[in-house]
Amino acid sequence: MPFSSATRRAVACTAKRQCRAFHTTPSLGAAAEVKKLGVIGAGQMGLGIALVSAQKASVPVRLVDTSQASIDKGLRFADKLLEKDVGKGRISKEDATAARERLVPSTKMEDLSDVDFVIEAVPEIPELKSKIFSRLAEICPRHAILATNTSSISITKIAASTTRDPTDLSASSRVISTHFMNPVPVQKGVEIITGLQTSQDTIDTAVEFCKKMGKVPSRSADSPGFLANRILMPYINEAVICLETGVGQKEDIDNIMKNGTNVPMGPLQLADFIGLDTCLAIMNVLYHDTGDSKYRPSVLLKKMVDAGWLGKKSGKGFYDY
Ligand code: NAD
Repeated sequence: MPFSSATRRAVACTAKRQCRAFHTTPSLGAAAEVKKLGVIGAGQMGLGIALVSAQKASVPVRLVDTSQASIDKGLRFADKLLEKDVGKGRISKEDATAARERLVPSTKMEDLSDVDFVIEAVPEIPELKSKIFSRLAEICPRHAILATNTSSISITKIAASTTRDPTDLSASSRVISTHFMNPVPVQKGVEIITGLQTSQDTIDTAVEFCKKMGKVPSRSADSPGFLANRILMPYINEAVICLETGVGQKEDIDNIMKNGTNVPMGPLQLADFIGLDTCLAIMNVLYHDTGDSKYRPSVLLKKMVDAGWLGKKSGKGFYDY
């Protein structure tokens, strides 16, 4: 269907505003207040995002996951983190209790019908994310910002799944990526990635909310791997290739990078920590979306994922946990 001239003008305006916003700090839209947050996926990222939002931004959070086991595991972990913060005197017992009470779990997406902002953190599977965003556009209020924590999937593509009509920007203009770094309670960085359809109000609301969470936003274009993973994943993949081709033992690979570049973990330990399935999914996106052979995923990485050795979360990866 051809675009109407009004739609063409709206898209051109949005693109121009986004372009300007990449290079300048002044806000051109209006940041809306987030009174209630929804998080989909209670895994390592979703739980971290939910907990930091409840604690630092003091908002009630509806935490949705299809697996009750994941919710239970996530909430146990949240209890442990809060207990540790209280033990170390970082927060009072009352504040910890209040933050924990703001986390309300659910196994139904329909419970997101009254949130102002939702952050999706389900596994890095394009079809799954598309399905979820199409449902979110139906369930969430018409003002709600729909954010994804994707590590590599195009935001423009995810936004397009909110409607079958490309001239209808009502939901797609509210889609954005807030890509948090792992572990969320510790790392301050968050990448803000916009799709072609994202409106300036959406950008401003997302940036403001991330700041309320105590994060430091960086802007990145909607390009495979964005900034963080475009740089990080080829580094991890190369470390796995060094291991599979016998250039070095795992301890030597990790030690030289740890002691040579002053990072807290070597690349193989970091891969275990991120999740080998996530690392492979990101390499696949970099490889297929750019068509550049330099992003070919390591054969060993694929085999380990096939074996179910996903790193820390499954108890076995390059190291045992
Ligand atoms: P994870 O495997 O730890 O958690 C995913 C959760 O999603 C699980 O609890 C699962 O039960 C749940 N889930 C699956 N299908 C669902 C559905 N249909 N509805 C609701 N919940 C569903 O994964 P993760 O490491 O937290 O990664 C989540 C997202 O964050 C991915 O897109 C990943 O690329 C991205 N990310 C990961 C990292 C990292 O270091 N792990 C860092 C930044 C971004």
